[in-house]
Amino acid sequence: MSEQQPLVRAVNVIKDFGATRVLHGIDLEVHRGEVVCLLGPSGSGKTTFLRLINQLESLTGGRIWVDGELIGFEERRGRLHVRKDADIARQRSRIGMVFQRFNLFPHMTALENVVEAPVHVRGVRPSRAREEARRLLDLVGLAERADFYPSQLSGGQQQRVAIARALAMEPELMLFDEPTSALDPELVGEVLAVMRDLARDGMTMVVVTHEMSFAREVADRVVFMDAGVVVEEGAPEQVLRRPRHERTQAFLARVR
Ligand code: ADP
Repeated sequence: MSEQQPLVRAVNVIKDFGATRVLHGIDLEVHRGEVVCLLGPSGSGKTTFLRLINQLESLTGGRIWVDGELIGFEERRGRLHVRKDADIARQRSRIGMVFQRFNLFPHMTALENVVEAPVHVRGVRPSRAREEARRLLDLVGLAERADFYPSQLSGGQQQRVAIARALAMEPELMLFDEPTSALDPELVGEVLAVMRDLARDGMTMVVVTHEMSFAREVADRVVFMDAGVVVEEGAPEQVLRRPRHERTQAFLARVR
């Protein structure tokens, strides 16, 4: 596998919901170790694009490769065939996703939430998985809360458990869908700090966010979407401080 090959390559991605086209041909590449922030007004298709990368939605048109492998389809003798479920599950297991709502299992402790997928999906030995889960909870600053249930944790703590849970599958790519937008303002910082550490450790990340300071400080590249198209992209410094496009300027003026 060449070092130059992007980890994610999306070409002319189109998505319709019924008769409505919500993505009009998105091209995007994400390289290993890169942090890309997707910005844009609500309804511009950012979440849909993330969900397509993780095969939570199916493509209407275009192609997405992750680590050089076409997702959703496979090419055999020059023809595209829909992949088998087991194959899709394998592709998905390489991608961690963190949602706006934390979606933890309420009847399981923080530790059990983190242990669940490695044991049941990947067949990791429980004792080994628990050891790794403790390391990950420590990484997100929750070593002391391992035996707490979600209802006993703040929103920020629950989101950090959700990040640890995603990391437990040893993903090569992490997708974040507005991970702080359901949090009280005073809890946003602790989640962003964990994400900043992950980025610093070299994790490849695609982050949908309205946190402009995070995008400015952590993103290698910012992609501004509006109405299902990429309007402009570039270094945060360029897109956030000297946006070229009128639509980007109008959006930034509103969120600042
Ligand atoms: P963003 O993340 O930028 O706010 P979304 O990807 O959530 O945008 O939504 C893009 C458009 O697709 C919106 O108009 C939204 O209403 C529509 N949409 C998203 N999911 C569905 C769905 N499951 N069924 C129908 N329309 C959807």
